[in-house]
Amino acid sequence: PVKGILRNTIYQHFVGGTSIADCSKTIQKLAVRNVGTILDFAVEGEERDELFDATCAEVIRTIEFARNNRHVPFSAFKITGVGRFDLLAKVSEKAQLSEEESKEYRRVYDRVESIFKRGYDLGVPILIDAEHTWIQPVLDDLVLEMMERYNKDVPIVQNTYQMYRHDAIHRLKEHHRIALDMGVKFGLKIVRGAYMEIERARAAEMGYPSPIQPDKPATDHDFNEVIRYFMDHLDTIHFMVATHNEVSSQLLAQLIDERGLPHDHPHIYFSQLYGMSDHITFNLAEKGYNVVKYVPYGEVKTMMPYLFRRAEENTSVKGQSSRELKLIEKEVRRRKGK
Ligand SMILES: Cc1cc2nc3c(=O)[nH]c(=O)nc-3n(C[C@H](O)[C@H](O)[C@H](O)COP(=O)(O)OP(=O)(O)OC[C@H]3O[C@@H](n4cnc5c(N)ncnc54)[C@H](O)[C@@H]3O)c2cc1C
Repeated sequence: PVKGILRNTIYQHFVGGTSIADCSKTIQKLAVRNVGTILDFAVEGEERDELFDATCAEVIRTIEFARNNRHVPFSAFKITGVGRFDLLAKVSEKAQLSEEESKEYRRVYDRVESIFKRGYDLGVPILIDAEHTWIQPVLDDLVLEMMERYNKDVPIVQNTYQMYRHDAIHRLKEHHRIALDMGVKFGLKIVRGAYMEIERARAAEMGYPSPIQPDKPATDHDFNEVIRYFMDHLDTIHFMVATHNEVSSQLLAQLIDERGLPHDHPHIYFSQLYGMSDHITFNLAEKGYNVVKYVPYGEVKTMMPYLFRRAEENTSVKGQSSRELKLIEKEVRRRKGK
């Protein structure tokens, strides 16, 4: 019964469907309003080789699907969907791996490579999610290596930068420089970052300085500053601003206008999650900006952790969706003429 309740409520609101084929209505519904889709196969859970292989194969199917569908301009995946978290942490720390672990890492590497290679062969850019800071080093190294291989003409391999990290701007500019030195295209997305509490708690517990900005205004400052940096280097950067923040979205829209650029400039994308901040998504799309929704999909069972996070945000005072509820309440009051 719980599954049924979830399916008819939050699942329907936040999830595109159970499979790629099942998402076609959602993709179409977004497309008629000029909004693109990024299919996000959101598996979380058991860490087994067979599941990692299955996820890798599914991500490749999203790439094949994207090639044939102009409403699906990118693919995306999480490295933790194709490799064990603790192994990624160990490689990131440059710790000595056992022979077994080395073989296991080789399999992770091969999965990541096969995903980007498929994107390259089919001309579909692929975004990789940003993760916890202690597995990010291996992710960054892999991305830079794959960029060199696959970004010669098109930014197929695209990393994500979390602006809640105080070193994010520095790292991002460094990677931009490396891409220029390698003579390859640089494409990326920025987010504020999803793991603030865990990062702070781990740093406190293990006694190292927190990698997170001191406060929200510091994160906002860097997020908006880096948008200006992109606009100043638009000839060599393709970027996606993934946020539900109205000020940041507005800022980018305004800068595009101020510089007299076409709203659908091919280097610039806005993005929100499916079922969240629709007012931002559809307003931008209506004005002709490039906007894409991340549309997670999967069986109800595998989507539970994702759905619980969205449900939690809906009820928490600080959360994203509480802002949406406030907007809805305001709209209802307006319509009632109060
Ligand atoms: C399309 C899309 C893709 C995403 N992909 C990823 C991803 O790959 N990796 C990832 O980690 N997250 C990802 N996220 C989530 C993202 O990082 C944010 O958690 C979420 O979008 C909320 O931030 P905001 O900019 O939308 O809104 P806001 O409400 O303006 O910002 C909230 C965010 O600000 C930061 N913040 C809040 N309080 C403080 C504080 N006291 N000090 C410092 N910083 C603070 C935190 O990052 C918090 O999540 C994605 C989000 C979207 C919309």
